[in-house]
This record gives sequence, C-alpha cells and structure tokens, in this order.
Amino acid sequence: MRQSQLFTKTFKDSPKDEVTINAQLLLRAGFINKELAGVYSYLPLGLRVLNKICNIIREEINTIGGQEVFLTSLQSQELWEKTDRWSDEVVDNWFKTELKNKTVLGLAFTAEEPLTAIMKNHIKSYKDLPVYAYQIQTKFRNELRAKSGIMRAREFLMKDLYSFSRSQEEHEQFYEKSKEAYLKIFERCGLGSQTYLTFSSGGVFSKYSHEFQTLTNAGEDTIFVDKNKKIAINKEVYNDEVLNSLGLKKAELVEEKAVEVGNIFTLGTKFSEPLGLKFTDENGKQQTVIMGCYGIGPGRVMGTIVEIYHDEKGIIWPEAVAPFQIHLISLCKDENDKKKADEIYNNLIKQNIEVLYDDRDASAGQKFADSDLIGIPIRYIVSSKTLEQGSVEVKNRKSGKVEMVEITKFFSVN
Ligand code: ATP
Ligand code: MG
Repeated sequence: MRQSQLFTKTFKDSPKDEVTINAQLLLRAGFINKELAGVYSYLPLGLRVLNKICNIIREEINTIGGQEVFLTSLQSQELWEKTDRWSDEVVDNWFKTELKNKTVLGLAFTAEEPLTAIMKNHIKSYKDLPVYAYQIQTKFRNELRAKSGIMRAREFLMKDLYSFSRSQEEHEQFYEKSKEAYLKIFERCGLGSQTYLTFSSGGVFSKYSHEFQTLTNAGEDTIFVDKNKKIAINKEVYNDEVLNSLGLKKAELVEEKAVEVGNIFTLGTKFSEPLGLKFTDENGKQQTVIMGCYGIGPGRVMGTIVEIYHDEKGIIWPEAVAPFQIHLISLCKDENDKKKADEIYNNLIKQNIEVLYDDRDASAGQKFADSDLIGIPIRYIVSSKTLEQGSVEVKNRKSGKVEMVEITKFFSVN
C-alpha cells in the first residue's frame, strides 16, 4: 500500500483521558479512532493487525475441530429468562434496546443461550456429538470502568467457542486440547513467554476454570506465578488449600499484574439442562449434553501486545501480527531515483510481501518518526545515496540494527 493513499494521519498527542499506553499509541499512530469512552473504531492499519490475530485464532481453532458460525447480536428476552440471565440484577452489563412495537431485545454479551438453542435443532442422537462451534463476533458489555483502552471496551470482538459433548470424559479430552491450542495462539501472537495458564474460580461444574493471563502492569488482575512450572493462580482463589491441591509452594510463587487474554470454562449442564438440549444415547436413553465455553478477546490481545512491545518512539509489532511486513521509505527527490524506488516496491509486491510504501512528499524526519510510531518490524530506506551504491538500507525496528543490502537481493529471480 502506498502511504500517500492511506487516509489516516499520525498525531503528536492522544486525548488527555487516555491513560494506557495501548490507547495512546494506537490513537497517535492512527490504528484506531475513539468514539466514546471505551468505544473504538478500527482504521486500516488497526484492522490489519486485528485480522491477523483473528486469523491465527481461526487456524488453531479449526485445527482442533472448530466449526465457524456467525450469530446475530440481537437477543430475545424469552430465551435468556429460561437460564435466569435476562434480569439486570443478575447480569449487570447488559445493553438492551427495543423494537418499534416495544419488544425489548438484548445485545449479546456472550452466546451460550442462543447457540444452545440452535443446537437443539441439530443434535438429536449420540451420533450427532461431539460438536465444537465458534464465532469471532462483536460483544456488547456495559462495562462500569473502561479505562484500559482496547483491552476493556464496551463493544469488542470475541472469539467464543462452545463445546457440546456426550460425557464428562469426552468434554475433558477437548478441554485439554483447547489448552494446547490457546497456548499456541498466544505464542504465535508473540505473547508466549509472558502468558501463563492460570487456575481461577470454576463455578458449579468444575473445581477450577482456566484463564490465560499475560504479564503486564496494564493488567487489572493479580496472579501468583510459578515461572519454572509455567503456571499461575489467580489471587481470587489463592489459599493454602488450593496451593496444596496443585502441588505449588508459596516460596516459588511471584506476585504479578496480568491481563486475562483468554479463558476456558467447564459448563456441565448449566445451560443444556434449562434449555433442554438432550440426546439419545447408545441405549436409547435421553441424556443431557455436557458443555464448555472458551473465549479470547482479539482486541484485548492487540492492546496487550502494544503494552508489551513498544519503546518511547512507538509500537514494535511482532512479525506475525504487524500491519505490514516491511516499511519501505523513499527519501528520493530526483524523478529517476523515485522510479527506482517504485520499481523496488512493485517487485516486493510481486513476491507477495506486505509493504507499506512511504512515497509521501514529507521530510525524512517526519517519515522516520511516523515509521517508529507505526512500528512495522523491518524498514527499507531508499535514497539517492543508497541507490548510488546499488543498495537499500535495512533497519530492524526492535534491535535498531542497520545493514546495507544490494538491491538485486529484493528482485525475484526471472
Ligand atoms: P474480565 O474478567 O476481564 O472482565 P471476563 O472474564 O468477563 O473478562 P469473558 O466473558 O470470559 O471475560 O470473555 C472472554 C474473553 O473476552 C476474555 O478472556 C477477554 O480476552 C475478552 N474480553 C472480555 N471482556 C472484554 C472487554 N470489555 N473488552 C475487550 N475484551 C474483552
Ligand atoms: Mg474474567
């Protein structure tokens, strides 16, 4: 993409009320736009990052058997009353709206109820199970405090997966697989070394649920980490009994701030029972389906990446989620040199390399400052000076390492 065509600008400052680094840098670099407190729109650069994160999630969830769906956000009161989750006293972050005829609707904050209702139309016998269905869809939550930038938004994307199994044993097999898939996802997003499988409160159907907590001071959670075993306990469930049952020692744990980037939960029959999701087993008997739910917030992952990977000049994207692979910056003034820079750009494109090409009529200082802020991992600089040497200057955003590389290296063979 030619930067002269990119409609977004960069900014020196961010709004005064944005206290987190993720919001400040993403706003200044033009990745997102702030609409209201906790309400953000994604602009071209931001959407590219978000889509890369979603695609990593999609690939790993498809690998463990997930089938993608896309449910409506409009929710019926009648359905949610069946599980006692309609009332604002029970769920305090509902957004609700109404039809012209005054029928009240909810805007989805999660999707256990509607998806379980859908499954009633499709699951009849043990032969129809197990099923793993997921979506990457908007969720609405009337969050009381929305001070963490895109890490806690009032409207945000969620990858929500739901498992439907015949037995507790079958459920647990998938639950274990999902843990592996989650760790792979965070690893691929560049958060592998900071993300811990964390024991947290489980509810009625299992002793624990599991959160995936990424260490950062921008996080709202406190966890106790065993760095050798690579697991952690959420402060919510931290006590001597829990430590013993997990074989963890107080002396080996470090208290850390962290953000929950994902979680997995055993639901048992909490939703299938009141909604009547049953199947006929091998012996012709009616059984209730065992469920689990598995969430990840792609926007929260993106915000967390910015919190971890930045310096005083801007963002430093990990390669796999960067908006572009290469930032090609032309400092050429002379028409002939400009043509050569264009040629390099066209050749990179031909090789399917994602390039942001700074072909703007701007000063070198402006271009470098913007490039540092936007944070594409590799920068190619072309100027009359480098062209004289038949070279391009290659700079690594993270290490700052600079080397001259011959132009012929960038041209595909033939
Ligand atoms: P939290 O404890 O942070 O409020 P939660 O436990 O309510 O989150 P879930 O309902 O399980 O979260 O949602 C699944 C995932 O969706 C979370 O792990 C997180 O990554 C993401 N998520 C939840 N709330 C938000 C939000 N307000 N903004 C962005 N992402 C969110
Ligand atoms: Mg939580």
